[in-house]
Amino acid sequence: MTDLLAPAVTPSSGGELTGLRLTLPQFNYAGFCRVCIRQDCADPGCAVQWPRYRWELCPDCGGTCFSTVTGVYCAECIDGLVEVR
Ligand SMILES: [Zn+2]
Ligand SMILES: [Zn+2]
Repeated sequence: MTDLLAPAVTPSSGGELTGLRLTLPQFNYAGFCRVCIRQDCADPGCAVQWPRYRWELCPDCGGTCFSTVTGVYCAECIDGLVEVR
């Protein structure tokens, strides 16, 4: 093994994390579509729309889902991710 030390973070356009695609399933654990907030959604428009959402690590909890401020479950994010604005 002759692993060269690659730069840990390569600056790229938009500040995206390289090699790590932050994503969420279109449906939450209760079966609701996160685009239209309907249960068991079969709208092809949502399926097209969903991959366009961009996510980043929650600045409040750093992706852990537990707020570093309050120490309780983070209310600011979905599973540690927030939508990029
Ligand atoms: Zn939908
Ligand atoms: Zn959070």
